[in-house]
Amino acid sequence: MRHAASTPRYAALLPVLGRPLEGVLARFGVAGFAPLRQYLDGLCQITVQCGVAEAEAPFAMATMDYYFRGTGHVRGGIGALAWALVRVVERLGGEVRMASRVRSLEPVPGGFRAGTRSGEIRARQVIANLLPQDLRALLGAAPGALPRLDRLARDVEGGWGAAMLYLVARAPEGASAAAHHLELVQDPRAPFTEGNHLFVSVSGAADEGRAPPGHRTLTVSTHVPLAKHRALPPGQQGSYIGAIQARMREGLAALAPEWSENVVHALTASPRTFARFTGRAGGAVGGVPRRAGLGHYLSVWPRPVQDGLWMVGDSVFPGQSTLATAIGGVRTAESVARRLGLARGGG
Ligand SMILES: Cc1cc2nc3c(=O)[nH]c(=O)nc-3n(C[C@H](O)[C@H](O)[C@H](O)COP(=O)(O)OP(=O)(O)OC[C@H]3O[C@@H](n4cnc5c(N)ncnc54)[C@H](O)[C@@H]3O)c2cc1C
Repeated sequence: MRHAASTPRYAALLPVLGRPLEGVLARFGVAGFAPLRQYLDGLCQITVQCGVAEAEAPFAMATMDYYFRGTGHVRGGIGALAWALVRVVERLGGEVRMASRVRSLEPVPGGFRAGTRSGEIRARQVIANLLPQDLRALLGAAPGALPRLDRLARDVEGGWGAAMLYLVARAPEGASAAAHHLELVQDPRAPFTEGNHLFVSVSGAADEGRAPPGHRTLTVSTHVPLAKHRALPPGQQGSYIGAIQARMREGLAALAPEWSENVVHALTASPRTFARFTGRAGGAVGGVPRRAGLGHYLSVWPRPVQDGLWMVGDSVFPGQSTLATAIGGVRTAESVARRLGLARGGG
């Protein structure tokens, strides 16, 4: 109801629908203001997954609010949130099966049959938290059989992988005790990818159990263009990622030496790591880049891929981030409940 009441205010956004943020900045005469441009290019890259020149304006403007709202931090790391969700599902009577990969999904009368590592499961409705290409593979669907999945898969393939440094460092004198982020750019005129742009999440001093006393974890990431990574022969992918990670270390040493000089432990990761440990085809992360275009609004309301089969996760609206995927999940659950006649009243 609240949104319905605000609709007239949203009408002010109509002229910028389908246009890049750059056009809006130009309208206000600030497109060439380098400090703002650099800040927004970095912000858009880590949220809507492309820079100011390409980013769909309303999506990009929503992320500009971060500066004022700040970001949330899960004490104990994202795993703590995952365990909390598992406990809630169990408390509500659900069952969570770990290490039970779904290997196949087949429509059967009245629902679906899922073949899993720990046996067969029958379901009236399936909500798949997968990339579109992974869902297509589970279904064994031929190309062209599910055009919506094909389209989404192409959009994801035009996106990104990530190169990572997972570091433990002694906290330098004067470091903020709060969990915080650093956004580092080596050359503002070059693309904000491949180690030129780094996003660093620093854990808080009160984040017990993540690092030895007096130390913090630093999660350092940069965007890897998947199309370029995919086009390389497998033997060259490793050296490509190695070069990016070297550039990341240089950037950290130049722009955050207080942390870089105090690193005591380091692990790395690449698109191959994400593919192996999170089961994401090709190591694709970040969902669908929100490049200017009206197509993004076609998927604002959850709808099944086929009867009884739904998608959630960062490839569908509203897109990437823990919060966005959670909101998308809640909306999808409400739609499924409505279909099954289980929806509760309320606004
Ligand atoms: C480097 C990096 C940094 C990020 N930083 C932040 C941040 O600071 N804040 C933020 O909000 N977001 C951040 N994100 C984004 C956030 O991680 C994603 O938006 C979110 O994880 C997407 O959730 P998802 O449920 O779509 O997919 P996933 O998190 O990939 O979850 C899918 C799950 O399905 C499981 N799975 C896959 N295949 C199968 C199968 N066949 N059978 C059974 N299970 C299967 C996987 O194991 C996985 O647990 C970051 C992402 C990256 C890559």
